[in-house]
Amino acid sequence: MGMLTDNLNEVRARVTAACLRSGRDPREVTLIAVSKTKPVPMLEEVYAQGVRDFGENRPQEMRDKAAELPADIRWHMIGRLQTNKVKYVVPRAVLIHSVDSLHLAEAIDKEAAKAGVTANILIEVNIAGEASKGGIAPEETEGFARELAALPNLKVNGLMTIAPIVENGEENRAYFRQMRELLVDIRDKNIDNIFMRSLSMGMTGDFETAIEEGATLVRVGTGIFGGRS
Ligand SMILES: *Cc1c(COP(=O)(O)O)cnc(C)c1O
Repeated sequence: MGMLTDNLNEVRARVTAACLRSGRDPREVTLIAVSKTKPVPMLEEVYAQGVRDFGENRPQEMRDKAAELPADIRWHMIGRLQTNKVKYVVPRAVLIHSVDSLHLAEAIDKEAAKAGVTANILIEVNIAGEASKGGIAPEETEGFARELAALPNLKVNGLMTIAPIVENGEENRAYFRQMRELLVDIRDKNIDNIFMRSLSMGMTGDFETAIEEGATLVRVGTGIFGGRS
């Protein structure tokens, strides 16, 4: 077995263990293999092990890889998105995780109308208030969701966050808990056209804590593919 397969098996075992520890059904949690910067043969190796969810952060890279790889891959756009790149993403991405402005949401809505699809998106929340990161402030998220609810070709599926880089994933537990509370609070408002089902949080350094706090999508790059230069 190759190294990537070993890595993948270990990550999968840790996902399952975190689910069991927290009384969750492992089928509720989707592991997204974050393949940004990695060449196609590496994606093929994990594809051969049954991975179908891949995450990319550059629109053209996603488009180019999608053209070379099997059509049953579910591509997740997880990176900052400029409105002029939306056209590369909307036809391919099963979910856009990183929507944090009305301007971007409107561009996605328009492109989705053109392509005759509904664009599934998550609202990116800046849970720790880090100046270096995108995302909507937690207290503005409900209002933002209400604005997006008016866009007919866009469906809000939930929330996403990029937690701070920490030594020990445990340090992000309170942020992950706040994300889950925010999701439930907004869900309980029963806003038309807003579905708060998906919670995208947790990366290589903290995905187990994120799962324990309710993540339904974890985005793991380094833990599967190794470091990026
Ligand atoms: C790169 C990236 C990841 C994966 O990070 P790792 O620490 O390598 O697991 C997850 N989410 C986002 C938004 C990323 O840009």
